[in-house]
Amino acid sequence: MDELHEECGVFGICAAAKTDVARTVYYGLFALQHRGQESCGIAVSDAGHFRIHKALGTVGKVFTPDVLASVGEGDMAVGHVRYGTTGNSGSENAQPIMVSHIAGNMATVHNGNLVNAASLRRELELGGSIFHTTSDTEIISYIITRERIKCDSTEEAVVRSMDALEGAYALILMFDDKLIAVRDKNGFRPLCYGKNRHGDYVVASESCALSAVDAEFVRDILPGEVVAFDKGGVRSIRSQCGKAPEAMCIFEYIYFARPDSVIDGCSVHRARRRAGHFLAQDYPVDADVVVGVPDSGIDAALGYAEASGIPYGLGFIKNKYIGRTFISPGQSSRENSVKIKLNAVTDTVAGKRVVLVDDSIVRGTTCARIISLVREVGATEIHVRITAPPFLNPCYYGVDIDSRDALIASHHSVEEIRKIIGADSLGYLRRERLPELTGADGRHGYCQACFDGIYKTRVSDELKRDVFEKE
Ligand code: SF4
Repeated sequence: MDELHEECGVFGICAAAKTDVARTVYYGLFALQHRGQESCGIAVSDAGHFRIHKALGTVGKVFTPDVLASVGEGDMAVGHVRYGTTGNSGSENAQPIMVSHIAGNMATVHNGNLVNAASLRRELELGGSIFHTTSDTEIISYIITRERIKCDSTEEAVVRSMDALEGAYALILMFDDKLIAVRDKNGFRPLCYGKNRHGDYVVASESCALSAVDAEFVRDILPGEVVAFDKGGVRSIRSQCGKAPEAMCIFEYIYFARPDSVIDGCSVHRARRRAGHFLAQDYPVDADVVVGVPDSGIDAALGYAEASGIPYGLGFIKNKYIGRTFISPGQSSRENSVKIKLNAVTDTVAGKRVVLVDDSIVRGTTCARIISLVREVGATEIHVRITAPPFLNPCYYGVDIDSRDALIASHHSVEEIRKIIGADSLGYLRRERLPELTGADGRHGYCQACFDGIYKTRVSDELKRDVFEKE
């Protein structure tokens, strides 16, 4: 595996009146599909009666017209697309996670990763909880349920639970009478809300999903904030705001998020273009054309071209129809597999000195294959520019980098990597450029731990994706 995977996407709606909320969530999840393709699900509340459907596969595959109709109308709904970072890819870990208890029902969707999942689960199991999944989202559900039984309101239960939860969590919780959005106090993962012309409130991981359902962006949920939506309107509880350093994942801007999203005040597209500007300033080169590796290299390639004056060219065509069911040709013919997914445009690169812009190098194998594709069609020089610094450390906040062993930069110098991938020159975004990516538009305080090793919470090496499978 030589690509990083998005973690998850969450979406929710609190409607002003009973309507086809499942369909709205379906469109919202389509817009968030890039954040996870392993499984998806939608839960609907119809005046407190919950219906749910979740399964392995993408939104279009799981939600056929009949299935969508069976989930049906209601006044609230939540949905999820998953790439698991705690727990396996099986259907038992698909979300929403439903809990019914003495004080009502709750459906939970989660993007992120708890860093204290193992100790919380141990404590809950010793107290008699029985787990049906191996994901940390079920732990969150049980912690909130435990508090809900002890206190008077759902808001109070959520606020009290936040004291126990450590790490990355952007949550949408659907209760019998309200929807609650929560962002951890560091704000690792994005979460925002908007409103449509019918007065329905919509919450989503990224603003592109609000646009997809014709909702107007209102604002981001703040790090540490709890926002409740119900028939009475919107209420904010800022119980943990400002109680921890802000640590929005900088890699959301570089790679995960859709370029048409605006996160914490900064356009993802603009941040990527800035990365291209910085690479052009820090690693100038004489070349004939700048090309970007789809999808996230394109915006930065445009930025490199702007800042360098070298023309931008369409370097690759990506086959958009390859899904998770694609049968790989196998280890012996991996080059073929890359060619099926990505093809170089001969007219753009043949006989030219090419600046090739990509978002990251994980193991280095995919980058090497892309370079050989471009050489095969006649590029005379290939100068690789990477819009992230070298990956040196694992991520504990919801991205599947769980071992240094898999990271080429943790074992090799930049010059060694250049030789391994077969480039004529190689330049990574300088680490000190990271906070500048969002310019004055963004919030201040980012996580960049996979690059600099500075984690904003305590972490532990027991935080592997399969931690609960082993048990
Ligand atoms: Fe994002 Fe890296 Fe921090 Fe993980 S460690 S949250 S990928 S910046």
